[in-house]
Amino acid sequence: MPSELHCLNPECRAVYPIDEVIYTCPQCAALLESGDPSLTLDPAATKRLWRERRMSNTPLDQSGVWRYREMLGFFNERQHCAVTLREGNTPLLNAPRAAEYAGMDAVTFKHQGFNPTGSFKDNGMTAGATVALRLGMKRVACVSTGNTSASMAAYAAAAGLTPIIFLPHGNISYGKLAQALEYGALTLQVEANFDQILALVRVLADETGIYLLNSVNPFRIEGQKTIMVEMLDQRDWRVPDWVVVPGGNLGNVSAFGKGLRELHAMGFIDRLPRLAVVQAARSAPFYDYFHDGERSKFVSVTEPETLATAIRIGDPVSWPKAIHEVETSGGVVERATEQEIADAKAVIGQCGIGCEPASAATLAGLKKLRAAGVIAADADVVAVLTGNVLKDPDYIFKYHTGGLKTPWGQGIESNFGNRPVVLPNDAGRIAEFIAERTG
Ligand SMILES: *Cc1c(COP(=O)(O)O)cnc(C)c1O
Ligand SMILES: [Zn+2]
Repeated sequence: MPSELHCLNPECRAVYPIDEVIYTCPQCAALLESGDPSLTLDPAATKRLWRERRMSNTPLDQSGVWRYREMLGFFNERQHCAVTLREGNTPLLNAPRAAEYAGMDAVTFKHQGFNPTGSFKDNGMTAGATVALRLGMKRVACVSTGNTSASMAAYAAAAGLTPIIFLPHGNISYGKLAQALEYGALTLQVEANFDQILALVRVLADETGIYLLNSVNPFRIEGQKTIMVEMLDQRDWRVPDWVVVPGGNLGNVSAFGKGLRELHAMGFIDRLPRLAVVQAARSAPFYDYFHDGERSKFVSVTEPETLATAIRIGDPVSWPKAIHEVETSGGVVERATEQEIADAKAVIGQCGIGCEPASAATLAGLKKLRAAGVIAADADVVAVLTGNVLKDPDYIFKYHTGGLKTPWGQGIESNFGNRPVVLPNDAGRIAEFIAERTG
């Protein structure tokens, strides 16, 4: 049976052909999932095939997403053309200094910031752009000021599609927007807020045949689930105890959970790692929902705030998928303050690794979960760093020079600050200073 689109609403369960241009269920508006529940693969033979592909020079095999294409049922290599910039292939990095900071024996980072446009959005966008091509679309669009627009612009350009980016008025993140401009995206600033623009773009997309690559796009989730497949392949299929990930729109944790469940169901792994999602304290509706004993209603945050702009989301679209994955894995949800995120980020920098602010929520959350006894000191933990250190240089400079403030004006301490030093043009005094500072 080929892949289909399934409505996730248990009262609806509608099924649609894979090539229908829909993003949510036309009958009930719930989230859709791409997949083939009857898919079976021989674990030993497939693991061997995936490992052999690492020696191959063909574009599909070199991609850390398409290498695992047996898991991507919507794609048939004999019929379809994949848009790849050799995404994925991101390293697992040991970080003793970060482990010590969190009170852990060891910590491993899977660093998605090594992707072509510097974030895990590329793992999803390679799939989204591939589907756009296959559907015969000429234009793709998203509403974003961040990594989604940078990634969409790059993959659209590589595919010969026209990228169109919609920006909420007066809410621009220049580092990431610069990438989108460089990749040639038509960039439209509309005088409305995020939700109003999203509604507008949905109408435009339906009427003018523009393909939407927003967070709800089920094929982006399919691409992102290979982050877990690659991680396990790199660990020779040793399952970690925990996977820690920052949560914004909650697409990534939903993708991780789906990928892990599929691997488990087909016998590639004999247990599921527990998923730990970390949100920024003032953008934490999923944290509140998870810790509400009733869990009867999901309450969004009207004015989400955090300097970790990639997780500044008050109304995360993928929460129904995410709660299912966190519960199924026996996972938890944590939150971290601006100070905790900033310090954790500096410690990740001190490891020679570095990441953007949202990514550092992982280490900040891990430290708290360790302190609370939820995660044991000797647990085997993989924390996913979602974005590259160069995404937000302004934040870094301010942290290290003591000028970083929360969006609500509170100063952030430079606990691990590293100021540049001004000295006179005097070799003797400079030598003295270096000796004093470095021994
Ligand atoms: C998009 C993004 C996130 C949030 O991921 P969700 O799937 O929205 O939860 C976190 N970090 C970075 C760097 C991102 O770009
Ligand atoms: Zn439905």
